[in-house]
Amino acid sequence: MKKYFRFYVAGLILFAIGCGVPVTRTLDDPRFSFASIGAGDPGCEQPTLVSTGGPFPKNPNTLAIRWTGYANFELVYKTQIILLDAHFDRGSMFPSIGVKAADVKRADVILIGHGHLDHMSDAASVGARTGALVVGAPVTTDKLLTQKIDPKQVRTVTGRGGEVLEFPGFKVEPILGRHGEPPKNVTAAFAAALKSTAPQPTPEQVAERNEIRQRGTNDPRVITEGTIAYLITLDNGFRIMYRDSGGTVTDYEKAAMASVGRVDVALVAVSASFLHTLTAQRALEHMRAYKPDVYIPSHHDAPFNGLWRATEPIFQAIKDENPNVVTVSRGYREPICFDTENNIQRRQGR
Ligand SMILES: [Zn+2]
Repeated sequence: MKKYFRFYVAGLILFAIGCGVPVTRTLDDPRFSFASIGAGDPGCEQPTLVSTGGPFPKNPNTLAIRWTGYANFELVYKTQIILLDAHFDRGSMFPSIGVKAADVKRADVILIGHGHLDHMSDAASVGARTGALVVGAPVTTDKLLTQKIDPKQVRTVTGRGGEVLEFPGFKVEPILGRHGEPPKNVTAAFAAALKSTAPQPTPEQVAERNEIRQRGTNDPRVITEGTIAYLITLDNGFRIMYRDSGGTVTDYEKAAMASVGRVDVALVAVSASFLHTLTAQRALEHMRAYKPDVYIPSHHDAPFNGLWRATEPIFQAIKDENPNVVTVSRGYREPICFDTENNIQRRQGR
């Protein structure tokens, strides 16, 4: 890995001083491996979701990950499309993610981390259109089943063990996590500051938000029994941990991690605590539990008049503790591709 990184840096320096061959190959694997995937592969270059008609990666070992705001991701592997959360139509108070729920035509499974509106508001419509299996905690699927979707497509999980879901090319283990509980004195102070300084939403925007809100739940059970982390294991052993809220690590997560040891990629929500000391502290807790090679943050974007949660202080805290962790944050829909054959677990025979 270091050798490739040095090669890359050397190439950049040569390019910068104008006497070398321009570095034109895509940096296709975030772990700085110049594997043959990615370069020249539209499936790893285009900012188009595969679920909306974009190309699959050419190489069947390639995992393509695209972030679509908040804790939404699209994962593509072999012939399968996995959606993590389903909140596409966020309304006019948010920056556009460049895709609407109605554009999503194909998906095999939708894993809902929890049932708040900003995680499940489009789960029913996207599920119904694609025929995907939609998975969530009881409080999530209770809400889902009040909407237009075939109950046969809905799978309820508790995350308390023994619920491994098998799909072609991968399996999913739901694990009971816990929703974030940011300190109220911090969140209230930031909310008050924003309210006093930012333009207020129009009545139309308030109505729009309320319509979206009805497709999620605010049941208090979301905090303690409605937030599910998903451990996704590909058929070659490559592991992804997904957690869509920045809560504390639970005993269920610790037990699941004790059996697998580590993951290749962690897709984790940044805590809503705003203060960098607090968000970094929680991110380190997640890192120590999941032990990923690559950390990809989520839930760090915000409405136009809100505050994005800064990722750089978190990246720095992670690297101060473990310089080998690669941190990656890209824009909406930009692909992050991995050669899943090239992962440390396989190289070490684990
Ligand atoms: Zn939430």
